[in-house]
Amino acid sequence: MTDYPDVLHRAAPGSAQNWQQRYESSLMGVFGTPADLLVSGRGCWVTDSQGRELLDMLGGIAVNALGHAHPALTAGLTEQLQRMGHISNLFTSVPQMRLAEMLLAAAQAPEGSSVFFANSGSEANEAALKAVLRHRRSTGKTRILALEGGFHGRTSGALSLTHKPAFREPFGDLIPGVEFLPVNDGEALERAFVADDVAGLFLEPIQGEAGVKPLQRDYLLAARELTRGSGALLVLDEVQTGIGRTGEWFRFQGVQRGVTGASGGSADGEAADLTPDLMTLAKGLGSGFPIGALVAFGAQHSALLGAGQHGSTFGGNPLAAVAGQITLETIEKEGLLPHVHQVGSRIAEGLRSMDAVSDVRQYGLHIGIDLDPEAFSSQTPAKAVVVQAREHHGLILNATGDHTLRLAPPLILTAEEADLFLNRFQNSCKDLAS
Ligand SMILES: *Cc1c(COP(=O)(O)O)cnc(C)c1O
Repeated sequence: MTDYPDVLHRAAPGSAQNWQQRYESSLMGVFGTPADLLVSGRGCWVTDSQGRELLDMLGGIAVNALGHAHPALTAGLTEQLQRMGHISNLFTSVPQMRLAEMLLAAAQAPEGSSVFFANSGSEANEAALKAVLRHRRSTGKTRILALEGGFHGRTSGALSLTHKPAFREPFGDLIPGVEFLPVNDGEALERAFVADDVAGLFLEPIQGEAGVKPLQRDYLLAARELTRGSGALLVLDEVQTGIGRTGEWFRFQGVQRGVTGASGGSADGEAADLTPDLMTLAKGLGSGFPIGALVAFGAQHSALLGAGQHGSTFGGNPLAAVAGQITLETIEKEGLLPHVHQVGSRIAEGLRSMDAVSDVRQYGLHIGIDLDPEAFSSQTPAKAVVVQAREHHGLILNATGDHTLRLAPPLILTAEEADLFLNRFQNSCKDLAS
């Protein structure tokens, strides 16, 4: 590396100075100015350009399933890159087939099911939307349903399904025919299916960007029944909830088993069927390497997108596929699914004992926290706590609203790190108490 000019060094000494100014004069302003400049990470910890070590309770927004610089991922990606990194989808690789097989097995998908690989959650949803558009065309059904509060991505198609008007309205007309239903309103859902003209329904089983807001089990099961009964496709967006985040491979499996947030992974409902027609994945799938996937359940749904009807240059290339393969293998090998339930429950229990916290929604390590505004001097305590925690307590948190925080740490978070988080979080809240 010493032959490269200084500008190519990832953490060149000079790059940490005036980085805000440097960022603003070179990067598009869509994210605002970032909170910090990070230079390295290990496990659940990251180091910033001032040498501060921060406990990462956001995990790259539910992405770094195996934390930072996991030795299995580092070794596997290095080896694959030395062998071959990219080959196009005119060819296949063993890792690509292996990852598809592993996903179908984890999803307990029936014979004839199949996977399409993309590079992000938005792209996975684009593929699902195109499958729904094919179905819409062949059936003559006209409507596509999504939910208020739902988030499916930022590309034009995925954005058409994303509810938040502030995200959609600046762009005018997007994909026509999309309607938004109120969350957990069973009557509105039933009414939407009366005319039998729905082509597809998109749902997140737990709404992530909305602040970890679960859809009720009865609501999800009704959605499955109504879509099946009227020939509409049920698309589950598990981009955030999938790949072990909630202590199951996929959240729909927890709902099937009757696992509620409070039950620490044990089932307390009767088993039911929530098998989707289409499921989208991304975020945790590559533990930081960009990859997305659409899983089509059964031969009929696999056939919705035929030869030449969809594609991707990068999708499922050997590097991305190896990242996915190692993520799934490591979750299995390290027993992370039960671990996620345990450590998540421990965090929820600690949070529920704090005066500043008014509500905790915990599904494995997918955790939403509502702060009690009365307990704080700030009108927007969530944002204030995020800054306080980062600047004074070595903690990375994320606010999804004025009063709501989201935790999505690496699935490898230890009980000791969970306790350290609770302690640091409590101190951050105390600093800002009213
Ligand atoms: C993050 C997210 C997306 C979008 O994924 P990108 O990789 O940012 O395109 C879609 N759906 C859900 C539920 C998400 O959480």
